[in-house]
Amino acid sequence: MTYAAYPGLRQREFAPWREKIVSGIYDPRPLPLADKAGATIGYAMTEKQGGSDLRETVTRARFLEDTPEGRVYLLTGHKWFFSVPVSDGFFTLARSTPGVSCFFVPGFLPDGARNRIRLQRLKDKCGNRSNASSEVEYHEALAWLVGEEGQGIREILSHSHLTRLDFAVASAGLMRQALTLALDHTQSRRGFGLALADQPMMTNILADLAIDSEASTLLAFRVARATDGIETDEKERHFARLTTPLAKFWNCRRAAAFVVEALECHGGNGFIEENPMARLYREAPLNAIWEGTSNMMAMDVLRTLRKQPEAGEAVMDELEGARGADPAYDRWLGRLGDELARSRNDDGHGRRLTGLLATALQASALHADGHADSFQAFCRSRLAGDWGQVYGTLEDAPEMRAIVERATVASTHRHAHTGSHTGKAG
Ligand SMILES: Cc1cc2nc3c(=O)[nH]c(=O)nc-3n(C[C@H](O)[C@H](O)[C@H](O)COP(=O)(O)OP(=O)(O)OC[C@H]3O[C@@H](n4cnc5c(N)ncnc54)[C@H](O)[C@@H]3O)c2cc1C
Repeated sequence: MTYAAYPGLRQREFAPWREKIVSGIYDPRPLPLADKAGATIGYAMTEKQGGSDLRETVTRARFLEDTPEGRVYLLTGHKWFFSVPVSDGFFTLARSTPGVSCFFVPGFLPDGARNRIRLQRLKDKCGNRSNASSEVEYHEALAWLVGEEGQGIREILSHSHLTRLDFAVASAGLMRQALTLALDHTQSRRGFGLALADQPMMTNILADLAIDSEASTLLAFRVARATDGIETDEKERHFARLTTPLAKFWNCRRAAAFVVEALECHGGNGFIEENPMARLYREAPLNAIWEGTSNMMAMDVLRTLRKQPEAGEAVMDELEGARGADPAYDRWLGRLGDELARSRNDDGHGRRLTGLLATALQASALHADGHADSFQAFCRSRLAGDWGQVYGTLEDAPEMRAIVERATVASTHRHAHTGSHTGKAG
């Protein structure tokens, strides 16, 4: 959230905040900004009556005065989800006369006293426990207006673009960690006379997971590269606009099923809290929910396709780059063209279309930057239609063993460099 906040704090008055954000220092002390070496920023949008539909915001904003620090308002209301309440400042939404507006709420008032944000309780979450999430009330909390009054939802969602990219990357990271743990366990434990990883059905599962891990990582990094080019390359800007919600949708959705499979690779040991898999299992569904649920991502993809044809064209251009590399890929592109025409005006097809596009982009990213084995196995399984509903259902994939070995080399390499190989990865 702190990363996403930087461009949001573009107003001249926020220069001291920007400086503390990029200091590279995490300073946990509860102090006014001037006394801190680094700043952390949170976002508080969600209210009880709805997190997806932010038009339902009822927190009130009352104009107080214009100051050199900006236009000051007093906020009164309740926020149902408020993560990292120890942050130094928060972007939030509240209703002023022209509509829902975006505000920045500092943790401390200019006179050094605490701002009037009352923490009611911490959420008892099923996972993600090392991040505190709370419920709060604003009692005439001081806030500065950000952007144009009444345009708050658009303003705050423009920051979400960056947190959504983070979740696409983070979910790929979560998958890779789960895969590393599954490889480590199945290669060091034996059953029925062989290392579990060498039992044919387990080899199939591990290869299947490794393909997904590689494809999700490359998808996320392709979007990250486009995001780097947002200000200098118009085509990359259009590409990033469509593929950010798309990659967030796909990688975050894949993560949960992926982690369940990696957990089962550990047998009963995976279900025990001492094993890091238990923590990954509890964490895995979350990225799909916050910063916009899966359905909100699919709606964003549909909306972008409808309103910004250049974004769809940038993605289709990219996909054309791999045409001819595999017959299943070419057929998929043909199918995609039909689905695009059919789904554009039908919200009910949002997930389907987003999934089809994401799968095509994963294949094209594997073709451009991945290993040829993975690209071929991906096309044969995900695109040619002979893949089952669960992991471990690759058919006729002679390169399975090589795929597993490559994924393993990466994990052994990591241990060699950190010197932390204790027999338990992660
Ligand atoms: C651990 C955690 C920490 C969080 N931290 C923060 C935070 O710091 N700041 C913050 O602002 N929020 C935070 N949230 C809240 C989170 O962003 C919201 O929960 C999320 O945006 C969904 O809103 P909601 O819970 O109100 O669900 P709802 O909006 O009620 O949605 C419920 C379901 O309905 C679906 N849905 C809604 N509308 C439609 C539609 N039109 N078509 C189809 N389906 C639809 C959704 O996709 C979802 O599956 C946090 C949540 C969690 C779990």
